[in-house]
Amino acid sequence: MEISDRYHSLDAAIYPWFKDQWQRIVRLHNDKHLPHALLLNGMPGIGKARLAEAIAGYVMCHQHQAMAPCGQCRSCLLLNSSGHPDLYFLRPEETGKPIKVDQVRQLTEFMHNTAQQGGYRAVVLEPAESMNLSAANALLKTLEEPGRDTLLILITHQLGQVLPTVRSRCQRLDCHPPDEAVAVEWLCQQLSVEPPEAQQLLKVVHGAPLAGLAFKKQGHQALRADFLTALREILRQRSSPVEVASQFLKADLSLLLEWLQGMLADIIRILLTQSDDLIRNRDMQKMLKGVAKNSTKDKIFTLSDLVQAERLGLQRRQNPNKQLLLERILIDWSALVRS
Ligand SMILES: [Zn+2]
Repeated sequence: MEISDRYHSLDAAIYPWFKDQWQRIVRLHNDKHLPHALLLNGMPGIGKARLAEAIAGYVMCHQHQAMAPCGQCRSCLLLNSSGHPDLYFLRPEETGKPIKVDQVRQLTEFMHNTAQQGGYRAVVLEPAESMNLSAANALLKTLEEPGRDTLLILITHQLGQVLPTVRSRCQRLDCHPPDEAVAVEWLCQQLSVEPPEAQQLLKVVHGAPLAGLAFKKQGHQALRADFLTALREILRQRSSPVEVASQFLKADLSLLLEWLQGMLADIIRILLTQSDDLIRNRDMQKMLKGVAKNSTKDKIFTLSDLVQAERLGLQRRQNPNKQLLLERILIDWSALVRS
């Protein structure tokens, strides 16, 4: 996720289930009682990293309001754009690998420099349990004396694995997964799904809503990859439209049509600009160029109109004949490159 996405709207970045934690930290900060090291503790997939970043953004804001950063000051603008020079992220170089002592030493160097923007400095370290013994020991002094106007935010998914010497130097902020009703509502909004599907998804991911979101999106990725392969096989005449239609009978048809229409739009872009600079489905570049080269504008526009009409129809009809609908579209797809 890009920094600009995360900070698009900082107050909106607080997940509803972290309201209590947010208010507690904000109050501590406004009362000038914020400790210099926090340990955010909770299961993975519930949004602790974003909470940490939001807390960092709040303390670094030069004119923060009672409950939210101003969004206007230099610090907020930096966070909203390219990133903030006084915000330091420390994570393993590779996922699942330990945080090394050299990385902690680099952090120490950062801590020795004064804040470039004349305000708070913040460090987000994740996950705290991935520091090996020497890395943790190297961090202890910084945890004790980080310097003025500095906030260290450590994140842990496994509190028991964090060294006691590290734990005892941080104030713990327990982060719990949301109640099922809250998580279901949030997932329904994020994924545009109905509550039963969100409930089912939450079961798979033990109630962690962000894990549910990732799971669903990964599922989509696999489906999209399969569908693109199938489209290619049709063009190569290795699969028939009827075979492919039955292969995807159980898939979300509106999703398939959305992807197909996106690809047709790319082919139109190639035809109209005589270049592939503007296409969005980069991973399909070769196939899209091939279709653009071997088809005609008329055929592409006709199919695009058909797909659009069927997408609208799907929203209105209760029980479409999915097999027939997809067959018809795929037959036209295969005909794009045949005279
Ligand atoms: Zn601000």
